Amino acid sequence: MSTKHDLVVIGAGPGGYVAAIRAAQLGLNTASIEVEPELGGTCVRVGCIPSKALLEASERYHEALHSFGAFGVNVSGVELDLAKMLSRKDGIVRQLTQGVAFLYRKNKITRYQGLGRFTAPGRVLVEGPDKATTEIEAKHVVIATGSKVANLRGVVPDGDRIGTSTDALSYPAVPESLVVIGAGYIGLELGSVWSRLGAKVTVLEYLDRILPGMDTEIAAEAKKIFEKQGLSFRLGARVTGAQPEGDRVVVTVEGSDPITCDRVLSCVGRVPNTDGLGLDAIGIKTDDRGRVPVDPHFRTAVSGVYAIGDVIAGPMLAHKAEDEGIACVEHIVTGFGHVNYDAIPGVVYTAPEIASVGKTEDELKRAGTPYKKGTFPYQANGRAKALGAVEGRVKILAHATTDRVLGAHVIGAHAGDLIAELAVSIEFGASSEDIARSSHAHPTLAEIVREAAFAVSGRAIHI
Ligand code: NAD
Repeated sequence: MSTKHDLVVIGAGPGGYVAAIRAAQLGLNTASIEVEPELGGTCVRVGCIPSKALLEASERYHEALHSFGAFGVNVSGVELDLAKMLSRKDGIVRQLTQGVAFLYRKNKITRYQGLGRFTAPGRVLVEGPDKATTEIEAKHVVIATGSKVANLRGVVPDGDRIGTSTDALSYPAVPESLVVIGAGYIGLELGSVWSRLGAKVTVLEYLDRILPGMDTEIAAEAKKIFEKQGLSFRLGARVTGAQPEGDRVVVTVEGSDPITCDRVLSCVGRVPNTDGLGLDAIGIKTDDRGRVPVDPHFRTAVSGVYAIGDVIAGPMLAHKAEDEGIACVEHIVTGFGHVNYDAIPGVVYTAPEIASVGKTEDELKRAGTPYKKGTFPYQANGRAKALGAVEGRVKILAHATTDRVLGAHVIGAHAGDLIAELAVSIEFGASSEDIARSSHAHPTLAEIVREAAFAVSGRAIHI
């Protein structure tokens, strides 16, 4: 087998495997290096997908216990089968990792299992699980090595009671009490899972708010809803350590009493992963946050070497990495390829979901951009009532004079799906009037988006 390729991608997460598939579609002889035996990266193996499987399952359980009665469906004897819930999740992950392997075969992508390390520009040494090495040559090398969990000083995962998101996808039993460090994406999603399954969840957050970076008004509404669901929050709480004590853990917080709990989930962010990649060997220097610097076409300082996804600047989101993978490879082959960073949605898959695209109201205020705002509540939508999902709202921010949509924020059922229309609107440079004039099927949650667009110019109908 030849080890010479047109393009090799290091890392087979959503950024890397999508880049490899697109390169193969464009006719390049493409190879992919991945250290794990399964393809799909953090997202598919230990991130987005397994967490969504658990969010869905735990929500069903919680609904059966607490909500079915309101629909006139009386159930009794509801029981949690955690082992089955976890094995269902593992089955979904297995199907998807095998699905990526199938796509590799379909697209004739050569797969190397092992840790990839640059020996020179265009040369990557792969050390396989058996320590055997293979040197690969490629005209173009795309670094798509993703990110790893950021460690918090004094909170050392012990493979038991103190752990990260990966551990929290497989607790063998529901902890009585769980302390979550960090009220970001992971803390709220996995905190919700274990709270629904019966754990007493306390979220400790250093800042004076949850979900930093998201629209402040929407984040404040989210906090109220989560509190009603039973999650408790301590804001302004800087965690300084976690120590196992017998079969419990003591979490220390600056300036306040320690908290004792059964398990600790540390989720204070992620950092770029360039471990063992040999960037020094080819003269690539990472920035002060460990990221690989790139130009708008994902070219690093070294000719023929590119980087995409969590290992470069920007939000650490699977779809952002995918978009960059496609744009990077298309630019290499066709000379065109572009990512619009103003139109990348972010979604927190709690219940209700929280979704956001474009500018937040805080950002518009800071920039002095004149804007109009239209909001519409789920409460006034017929479908939301039928679904029993009346919490939340859609908020659209449009330029005060041009009416161009600058940002949109949704909290409510299926927010992650509703945000797609708003992302497309931003991508197409739509005005709120464009959304308002487009027909939206009745009765759907999408009508809330249209009503929020009407509300931008003060003419919402159903309120
Ligand atoms: P995050 O950056 O979303 O949140 C981390 C939180 O921890 C912040 O609010 C921060 O203020 C807080 N924190 C930091 N140090 C602290 C301390 N000493 N004490 C208390 N709080 C502290 O990070 P995350 O939730 O770990 O997620 C990691 C990455 O994974 C994110 O970049 C996110 O984009 C991505 N992710 C996305 C999704 C999704 O798209 N649904 C889901 C999970 C993760």
